[in-house]
Amino acid sequence: LETKEEYGHKTLAQDVMRPRQSDPLLVVLTQEGMSVGEIEGVIADTDYSGFPVVVSQESQRLVGFVLRRDLVISLDNARKRQDGVVSASLVFFLEHVPPQPFSGPPVVKLRGILDLSPFTVTDHTPMAIAVDIFRKLGLRQCLVTHNGRLLGIITKKDILKHMAQMSNRDPDSILFN
Ligand code: ADP
Repeated sequence: LETKEEYGHKTLAQDVMRPRQSDPLLVVLTQEGMSVGEIEGVIADTDYSGFPVVVSQESQRLVGFVLRRDLVISLDNARKRQDGVVSASLVFFLEHVPPQPFSGPPVVKLRGILDLSPFTVTDHTPMAIAVDIFRKLGLRQCLVTHNGRLLGIITKKDILKHMAQMSNRDPDSILFN
C-alpha cells in the first residue's frame, strides 16, 4: 500500500468491509459443533484465504482467524494420520475439548492453527487509521466488529480496490483529507 494514496476522513471501515449489504453472508466457522465434512464443504464451496472462527453463529463473538491453507493441511493430515477420523468427526478450536461419547468417532483438535489475536477494527474506524495499521503491521486482512459482534472483513485487496474506485470517481476526496 502506497503512502501517497490517502483516504479521506469520511471513509469508514464499514464502507470498505465485506460482505456488502447485497452480498452473501460472512463465512465463519464455529469453535465447536462443526464436523470435518462440514468444514471441508465450506472449503470446497468458497475460495476465501481464511475464515473467522466465532463462539457460535448466534453470538458472532470472535475467537480467532484460521487460514484456508492451514485448515486444508490439518484436515488432510487428520484424515490420513489420525485413526478413525471420518466426515462426522467433530472439529474443535477450543482449548479444552468437552468429554465426548465413547461411541462417537474421534474428534479433531485445531486450536493449534488458530490465530487467537487477529487484527480487528470497529465498523466506525476511519479507513485512514485502518490503512495506516495495514501498512505498519503488513496485514493481509483485518476483521470488523460492532459491540463485540463480528460484522465483516477487509483484505488488502479490498482497500486497493476501494482506493482505485475513489480516485476514479472523486480525486478531490483523496487530495483534501
Ligand atoms: P483477496 O481480497 O486478497 O482476494 P480473499 O480471497 O480472502 O482475499 O477474499 C476475497 C473477497 O472476499 C474479499 O473481498 C474479502 O473481503 C471477502 N472475504 C474474505 N474472507 C471472507 C469470508 N470468510 N466470508 C466472506 N467474505 C470474505
